[in-house]
Amino acid sequence: MRISLKLSSTLFLAVLLLLSIGILSLLVMSGIQKNQQAAIEQELAQQVKLANLYIRQDFYADGGERITSFLKESGNRLAYGLYNYIGIPVTIYSDSGVKIGNSAENGVVQQQRDQQLVTNNEEQTLLEYALDNKVAFMEKKSRLLYMAPIDGPDGQSGAIQLDYSLVEVQAFRQEMKRLFFIIGLGVLAAAFASGFMYYSRIAAAVLRLKLAADQIRGHQFIAHSPVERRDELGELGEGIAVMSRELENGIQSMEREQRHLRLAVEKLQKLERQQKQFIGSISHEFKTPLTSIKAYIELVGMYQDDPQLLKEAYSNIDKETGRLYEMVEKVLQLSALERYEFEIQAESFDAKSVIEDLAGRMRGKAERFGIALELNLAKTPVWCDKEAFVHMLVNLIDNAIKYNRPGGFVRLKCRPQDSAIVEVEDNGIGIPPELLKQIFEPFYTVIKDRSRESGGTGLGLSLVRELANKQGGEVYALPRKGGGMVFRLHLPLYSQKD
Ligand code: ADP
Repeated sequence: MRISLKLSSTLFLAVLLLLSIGILSLLVMSGIQKNQQAAIEQELAQQVKLANLYIRQDFYADGGERITSFLKESGNRLAYGLYNYIGIPVTIYSDSGVKIGNSAENGVVQQQRDQQLVTNNEEQTLLEYALDNKVAFMEKKSRLLYMAPIDGPDGQSGAIQLDYSLVEVQAFRQEMKRLFFIIGLGVLAAAFASGFMYYSRIAAAVLRLKLAADQIRGHQFIAHSPVERRDELGELGEGIAVMSRELENGIQSMEREQRHLRLAVEKLQKLERQQKQFIGSISHEFKTPLTSIKAYIELVGMYQDDPQLLKEAYSNIDKETGRLYEMVEKVLQLSALERYEFEIQAESFDAKSVIEDLAGRMRGKAERFGIALELNLAKTPVWCDKEAFVHMLVNLIDNAIKYNRPGGFVRLKCRPQDSAIVEVEDNGIGIPPELLKQIFEPFYTVIKDRSRESGGTGLGLSLVRELANKQGGEVYALPRKGGGMVFRLHLPLYSQKD
């Protein structure tokens, strides 16, 4: 059975209080009782002294002959006189233990009836004590029987019994008990109520702590302590909040690590796939020009005196070896970029002046293709490897010329924005939008023949992408409104690198 903390603590407090009140009242009551008893004893001892004095005076006034016979004769009178004198009912016993006087007899002597032995055992014991010259007393219901010796001129000559009423004393004690009971009940009720309220607050705090622990177990973390108290519970709450924050951070960083790991594994798998594809493509791409060269060499060997064939073979072998050379160079560049952590020799320079310079060098080729090279350049400080920058632009401009139409244009633009923007725009044949994703893959060509015709290898754009990424930049292929393409490079601005 589950007993709530609130109930068990309150009950414990109540039992504790009950015990303390009980013990306290017992102690006080026994103190009061002892005190009263001592006072009564003192009072009765005093009364016995007075009684002795009274008897002796009366004895001497009577002639002072024989005390025993005087007592026997005047017992009832003496007892009555004493009762009037000290205000306590008195009984007188002879030295042989016979009752010889009783104040209740109101002075009427009924010798025969009174002179009887004490029959009650307890009273008999008391009497024996008193006749043995000792004081003895006992409580009997609401009376205190007090017996003491009567001192005669020649020693003890009987015993006197004082019948002290305890009604008032017992009423006082009863009243005290009643008071203790009422006060005890009141204190208990008040303590129970305040204890219940106090433990309710503690139990509520403990409940909040338990809820917080449950929440944390369900990965709902808490930022602040669930209880605001300046005691151990408050400290515990603070501790739970700190633990929760640390747990959250730990789990978050673990999840981050897991994500990174997953990404790294995915990247590795992708790289592996790309590598396999790359090797497959290389062998295929290399084979084509080599087959063509081999075929021409065989033909030349067979028809050595055919000038037309020789001319054609020369031109084709020249074109194919040029393509092979281009391909080997780009493959080497690409694999250098992929395998080794390319050492970026970043520097700051103005893209505008580098592009102007480059445009000057490529204008001849553009004109040969009947393409106009236009510039729209703003001063743009870039932070990048200059050689890589030139490489990227050469590839992009080269493509814009190759995949253009006679009379077309190639526009070079640059401007500083959030990053340095460099664009190579053309109004050439363009690329179908659904193929835009693939054109950065190695050896990918949209129209194989056209690419081959113009000495293309399918490696230029993947080289551009690798170079841009290594500089911390990106390259985007965007279809141009009205036909053609825009290749946009985003590179780090120099101001960002201060
Ligand atoms: P390539 O050596 O064949 O030019 P790239 O990697 O440079 O290889 O380009 C991949 C393919 O993307 C090209 O074969 C061509 O089909 C297409 N392409 C690249 N640039 C352009 C452009 N400016 N306009 C149209 N097509 C382009």
